[in-house]
Amino acid sequence: MRRLNVNLNTFAQIIVMANKKLKFNSRTIHGGQQPDKAYGAIMPPVYLTSTYAQTKPGEHLGFEYSRSHNPTRSALEASLASIESGKHGLTFASGMAAIDAVIKLLHPGDEVISTNDLYGGTYRIFTKVFASYGIKFHFVPMGDIAAVEKHINTNTKLLWVETPTNPLMQVIDIKAMASIAKANNLLLAVDNTFASPYLQRPLELGADMVMHSATKYLGGHSDVVLGALVLKDDDLADRLAFIQNASGAVPGPLDAFLVLRGIKTLHVRMQRHCENGRIVAEFLAQHPDVESVYWPGFETHPNHDVAKAQMDDFGGMISFIHKDNSLKKATQIVSSLNVFTLAESLGGVESLAGHPASMTHASIPKEEREKTGVTDGLIRLSVGIEDSEDLVADLTQALG
Ligand SMILES: *Cc1c(COP(=O)(O)O)cnc(C)c1O
Repeated sequence: MRRLNVNLNTFAQIIVMANKKLKFNSRTIHGGQQPDKAYGAIMPPVYLTSTYAQTKPGEHLGFEYSRSHNPTRSALEASLASIESGKHGLTFASGMAAIDAVIKLLHPGDEVISTNDLYGGTYRIFTKVFASYGIKFHFVPMGDIAAVEKHINTNTKLLWVETPTNPLMQVIDIKAMASIAKANNLLLAVDNTFASPYLQRPLELGADMVMHSATKYLGGHSDVVLGALVLKDDDLADRLAFIQNASGAVPGPLDAFLVLRGIKTLHVRMQRHCENGRIVAEFLAQHPDVESVYWPGFETHPNHDVAKAQMDDFGGMISFIHKDNSLKKATQIVSSLNVFTLAESLGGVESLAGHPASMTHASIPKEEREKTGVTDGLIRLSVGIEDSEDLVADLTQALG
């Protein structure tokens, strides 16, 4: 067998340098990537190994133990840094493990100001896990800048933003939050799961950290659970990498491979999610039995201007309420869908329907939930990339 007579190291350097100049869609494919150094494989091999040979103690090829580093995971982390316009990517066993790492930057007595319309699991880890370690969380409607500022004191360390919010699709002004964070010396973290970097890149808008449940749009095929953080600051990245290794909630190499593969089609999938999202949102809005539709693409959406300024399109996440706003009606609708599958999660190629009050948001007490508008009649759709005619026909029969 003849080895190719090219210096792949030099070749890789050229590619990585060129990647910095690439536009977004090209970066989903090439960002941070280089052909495998051993054989030039286009996709990084799934390095199923826990440890790496050393020639002398401490002398190795940059990898010592797979909790600390794994080449497949490193390839994904470089891709994430590239598509989120960051410098460092860190990946975790799940989105929740990524959030866990961020809160571990804090100490007892520290305070966090968070969006009030929030992913149920995030609310749960804040209130049921970290509150008992002496960290205080304030849940605030972040569209109201004065309400955010009112909660800032000398203990405040972190602003936690999720936008568009889940499930009510409110849009929070990331630039405005970044300027509050800067003025008060706070860290700003943005959960960018719903938008994905195709629609919005918070680091470009002044955030310090981007968090992802890559389980959703980045993976894109409902076949993997994985979380990520993307940072631009070296020191913050070092502190979080320390926590990543010390706590050890890292993803396996096959999971890293699946997300990396998913990212390569992120832009084409997102384009179709957005097109179908608009068609479904407009269909629901004109339906006589639908009372309200939550989708930031409508000009009548209360935060449409902010959405237009910070997002490149409006996505495929939609919530709506039937005019008979009841648990019974919502249950009947979601149970009679055929093309949409009734399931938790979002962001895969297939369309999903969910009932937040009994599914994703069941861990939030009913009074808290209803205060923010997550009523028993609310239905959430993750519009997939099927033919839109089939999606509209399915909703027509379920509503009829
Ligand atoms: C799913 C999700 C999470 C949690 O991620 P996992 O990968 O399920 O642990 C966090 N935030 C948002 C917005 C999510 O949709």
